[in-house]
Amino acid sequence: MGIATGVRRNPAVREVVVVGGGPAGAATALLLAQRGRDVVLVEASRYGEPRFGETLPPEINPLLRELGVWDAFVRSGPLASPGLVSAWGSPHPQETHFIANLHGSGWHVDRNVFDHVLSDAAAAAGAEIVAGASALRCTPDGDAWRVALSGDRERPLRARFVVDAGGRNGTRLGEVAREVDDRLLAIFLRLAFDADPPRDTRTLIESAPDGWWYCAPLPSGETAAVLFVDPGQYVRDGFEIAEQLASAPLTCERVGRARIAASHVVHVPSSIRRRAAGKGWAAVGDAAASYDPLSGFGIVKALQSARAFADALDDDSLAAYDADVRRRFDAYVAQRRAYYDLERRWPDRPFWRVRFTEAAIDGRSDSRTR
Ligand SMILES: Cc1cc2nc3c(=O)[nH]c(=O)nc-3n(C[C@H](O)[C@H](O)[C@H](O)COP(=O)(O)OP(=O)(O)OC[C@H]3O[C@@H](n4cnc5c(N)ncnc54)[C@H](O)[C@@H]3O)c2cc1C
Repeated sequence: MGIATGVRRNPAVREVVVVGGGPAGAATALLLAQRGRDVVLVEASRYGEPRFGETLPPEINPLLRELGVWDAFVRSGPLASPGLVSAWGSPHPQETHFIANLHGSGWHVDRNVFDHVLSDAAAAAGAEIVAGASALRCTPDGDAWRVALSGDRERPLRARFVVDAGGRNGTRLGEVAREVDDRLLAIFLRLAFDADPPRDTRTLIESAPDGWWYCAPLPSGETAAVLFVDPGQYVRDGFEIAEQLASAPLTCERVGRARIAASHVVHVPSSIRRRAAGKGWAAVGDAAASYDPLSGFGIVKALQSARAFADALDDDSLAAYDADVRRRFDAYVAQRRAYYDLERRWPDRPFWRVRFTEAAIDGRSDSRTR
């Protein structure tokens, strides 16, 4: 459904409500406001609770410039990331230096700070921000939507168009059914060092018998270390972090002497919504399609999808937007499977057994175990 741009603010029925102020929702609100639309951004938090996904590849740089937030981003104190070290499929680390990257360095960020930079920019561009309120329900209301909010807002919002930017678990808006390609469980550790933190500021990725690790320094001086495991195995067997660390020598060397300042367990499905847009609604970012963090592209994808959606709304081409979300997801799934197929050291361990394809096991290319 296309809607006219430049509509004056009507307090009774707003033009667009964006639910979720993560990177996808905040960038969507920013772009829509920059294009003269009346937009309200509803964010459940006040950017004070833990958020995950703190490493940005160099490909983020042109997107931040296009959004007009580059200076604010640099002022917010991100930590430059000079590259990536990966031991995957072999114990020998492979290095990728961003010095050779066209876009410059990558970054490690405090996600609350990063997401706040984007929502502040949306506010400066004219979006109304409602923080600390959750959208509880979205129901059709004539030719608009009624969005019921938690907290003390007296009346529900009404809007002609609603965008679900509520993340990988989405909100209850539009058609919510999803196709799941894979499910991981992330055991997230925020690690503090009593002595000097590690000098190496590159992202470290290392596969291990029961899953894989990544480590990324944070601007605070702490380090995020995340172990991705199979949810079924986690429930069945549980995991000893010390034992898991011992099976990942490079990760152990980097963070073995740290203490755990905080830990969280998060479900991380790799999945796509059956439809990313319909009459009067669309989903952006992880709410449309969520990728395995191994891709390292969740936040880049969030900003790209915000732009693709904003363009589609302008051009009245939401069906093409929906098809594009699907096309990109299919390409990502093929890449993800090929990457997991590179790790052949533990074919009998539960994590790798279910992620191996028949093509990897016997050299055929046309069929899969899952
Ligand atoms: C452990 C882990 C590590 C990761 N590492 C990386 C990484 O290093 N690099 C990378 O690029 N990506 C990484 N990712 C992926 C990345 O975090 C996501 O792809 C990205 O955050 C998606 O942005 P989003 O805006 O779509 O969703 P989110 O960032 O999930 O934002 C959703 C927002 O919606 C709000 N919300 C939800 N429901 C409601 C509601 N009902 N009402 C109001 N607000 C609501 C939430 O508070 C939140 O602010 C990682 C993910 C995980 C789980």
